[in-house]
Amino acid sequence: MAAAADDVTSAPPSNRIDVFWHEGMLKHDAGTGVFDTADDPGFLDVLEKHPENADRIKNMVSILKRGPIAPYISWHLGRAAQLEELFCFHTREYINQLIKADKEGGKQMICAGTFLNPGSWEAALLAAGTTLSAMKHILDGNGKVAYALVRPPGHHAQTTQADGYCFLNNAGIAVQTALDSGFGSVAVIDIDVHYGNGTAEGFYWTNEVLTISLHMDHGSWGPSHPQSGCVDEVGDEEGHGYTMNIPLPNGTGDKGYLHAMTELVAPAVSQFEPDLLVFVIGQDSSAFDTNGRLCLTMDGYREIGRIVHGLANAHCGGRLLIVQEGGYHVTYSAYCLHATLEGVLDLPEPLLSDPIAYYPEDEAFAMNVVNSIKKYQTNATFPFLKQG
Ligand SMILES: [Zn+2]
Repeated sequence: MAAAADDVTSAPPSNRIDVFWHEGMLKHDAGTGVFDTADDPGFLDVLEKHPENADRIKNMVSILKRGPIAPYISWHLGRAAQLEELFCFHTREYINQLIKADKEGGKQMICAGTFLNPGSWEAALLAAGTTLSAMKHILDGNGKVAYALVRPPGHHAQTTQADGYCFLNNAGIAVQTALDSGFGSVAVIDIDVHYGNGTAEGFYWTNEVLTISLHMDHGSWGPSHPQSGCVDEVGDEEGHGYTMNIPLPNGTGDKGYLHAMTELVAPAVSQFEPDLLVFVIGQDSSAFDTNGRLCLTMDGYREIGRIVHGLANAHCGGRLLIVQEGGYHVTYSAYCLHATLEGVLDLPEPLLSDPIAYYPEDEAFAMNVVNSIKKYQTNATFPFLKQG
């Protein structure tokens, strides 16, 4: 590709986000059909692109290049992961299955809604490698806040199988790499609207990683994804109490999310005191996403970004890796990303106003749910919450 990389902005490192990106990730094309099925029933004149399409990411790139946040962004060229780098998270058998499928020419539905077409495997390797580049940038002390702008997404991908548009667990591979590099503990905060089941599973048996996922109670979408993400899935063995699931009711909205962040997420991260924070973002928790029902607006994303960076500053020496997941509204997702990063930068005033925030939230119900989860957490379930 033309190297638009390493444009270093004038912003100082303390007020800069290093964005890692490679346009080869646009080559993944999951096709068209009835929503995410790739099926053409024959009686529709107009089919639509698979929700996880290149357009959504093109707009995320362009808003960071041409939006008012541009002076705060430094661009870095991503790279493909080497196969050896994947095995810290995924099994060799699973990776070999994907390689075989790609060699056979792709065009395979790997699982519900998840299509490996020509170009997909190359894009998946770029997504994992670009996330690793962003992580290593932080581990090597070259920057504090790095954002891996990647697709296909990763947080549903499990150690042994693809799931929910995801082939490789980009964040999971990066987290394990940080641990292998000598970082003792990592906290993951996943605000994609779906349960980060692959990441949670990957670290379910360790106390080195606190995985927190805020998500809607969305149910199963097939054999690769049985219903999971309940509050009582808390980790096992050494990892008991190091998985924190926060299933939120439909219509939660900005106020409900902020209540969950301040009452559940912030205290947990503060007690855990990680060396590094990984912020897994998906704009499918917005009010207008086809795949989500949790009704965040730009204001909510901005405040969540502010809180997460505050936690990184307070506990992790400011080290914060941000990893892109879902977010399917082709225009609003880009705006919500912009707002999230404004919050991470802790800018005093919004740089972009919200063009469409008017959906209702069910604030009272969300508050009650969060308070109930808090009550559940303050029994003996989460050992590190007892230290304070
Ligand atoms: Zn999602």
